[in-house]
Formats: sequence, structure tokens, C-alpha cells
Amino acid sequence: MTAHHRKLTPGKLVIASHNEGKVREIRELLAPFGIEPVSAGSLGLPEPDETGTTFVANAELKARAAADLSGLPALADDSGLCVEALGGEPGIFSARWAGPSKDFGLAMQLVEDNLSRVPDAGRDAHFVCALSVCWPDGHVENFEGRVDGQLVWPPRGENGFGYDAMFQPWHHDVTFGEMEPAAKHAMSHRADAFRKLVAAVL
Ligand code: IMP
Repeated sequence: MTAHHRKLTPGKLVIASHNEGKVREIRELLAPFGIEPVSAGSLGLPEPDETGTTFVANAELKARAAADLSGLPALADDSGLCVEALGGEPGIFSARWAGPSKDFGLAMQLVEDNLSRVPDAGRDAHFVCALSVCWPDGHVENFEGRVDGQLVWPPRGENGFGYDAMFQPWHHDVTFGEMEPAAKHAMSHRADAFRKLVAAVL
């Protein structure tokens, strides 16, 4: 079956994220394709509430809001950690588990505590990254990437962010927190999703 994807043409693309780190990373990824990323923050666009029940739904509602308000194509992402023995939690609530102080030491402890209450719980987990590109005329292209691994305790490594220090990808004996950033970036859920996006719309 051939999928027919709409291509992004050279020009402006709104990055519907207020995280400057993410915008910078995406800018570097898109530079070779003649795409000129503009951050939603620089256009004064508001951040919509993430009311979706899936990663893709949340990425799409952020990209849709930015495309409608700016009149330009827009890209948004949503990502998180899914623990199999916890029925996929924290999932789309991954950022919220860290509380208002964004304390991921606390969030990782919460994952471990919840896991310890599940009899015979396995430690399988995966990260998911959804990417959505929306055009002002209503067209949308969605992509999802993932990386599978196991949770370790205690957390190890100072690199990375979020739940990186407790996530060890399959076939590796170091956590994302211990890996060189370039090694993580080559195999992450985000890299997987971006490879799919690049293949389809660029
Ligand atoms: P988002 O910015 O709404 O997509 O929030 C995603 C949350 O999921 C982040 O705050 C992290 O807690 C977690 N997360 C997503 N990707 C990663 C990753 O690559 N490493 C560690 N944690 C991640």
C-alpha cells in the first residue's frame, strides 16, 4: 500500500512548543530541508490545554491550534514514559507526575513506589513521541515513535532529563541518563518519530 503524504514546502513552519530547547533541536533537524522554524512563543500564540487522551491527540491539538491562529503549517510533539505493569502510566501524564516543581526525582520515585505495589510486576517500559504537522486548510499528518527498554532502580546517570536515569534501552547496559547525548538522540523515541516524519513529509 502506498501512503500519500502531503509534503512540507520550503518556508515557515511554526513549532508549537514553548520549550526553547526543543525548538532549537527541531530547528537543527529541519535546517537541511529549507524549512524555517518559527516558535509559537515568538508569535505570541497561547498554549492550549492538553485535553487529549492519547499522545497523538495531544500533539495534534497543539499543532492544530497553532496552524489555525498563525495561518502557517505547524508542528507539535507530545511524549512520555509508559510502564507496562502500570497499564501504561504515567503516559500522557508524564510531565504532571513531577508536580508543580517539575521534580523528576520525585516522579521516578512515584513510578518505583507504584511498581513495588504490583505483585510480580515486570519492569518493561517504553518512551513514546508523537509528532503532528497541521496545515491551515485542515490537513494533518501524524507520526509516532517509540523506544523499548527496562526500568532500573536506583536511577543512574546525570545526562538527559525527565525519566532518563531510570530507563535502560534494550541491548544496552547503560541508562539514557548515562549515555552520551548523541547516542541517545540516535535511538530515542523522538528520533524514531522524526525519521518517519522526514520520510513522509520532507
Ligand atoms: P511533553 O513536553 O508534554 O511532551 O512532556 C513529556 C514528559 O515526558 C517530559 O516532561 C518527561 O518527563 C517525559 N519524557 C519525554 N521524553 C523523554 C525522554 O527522552 N527522556 C526522559 N523523559 C522524557
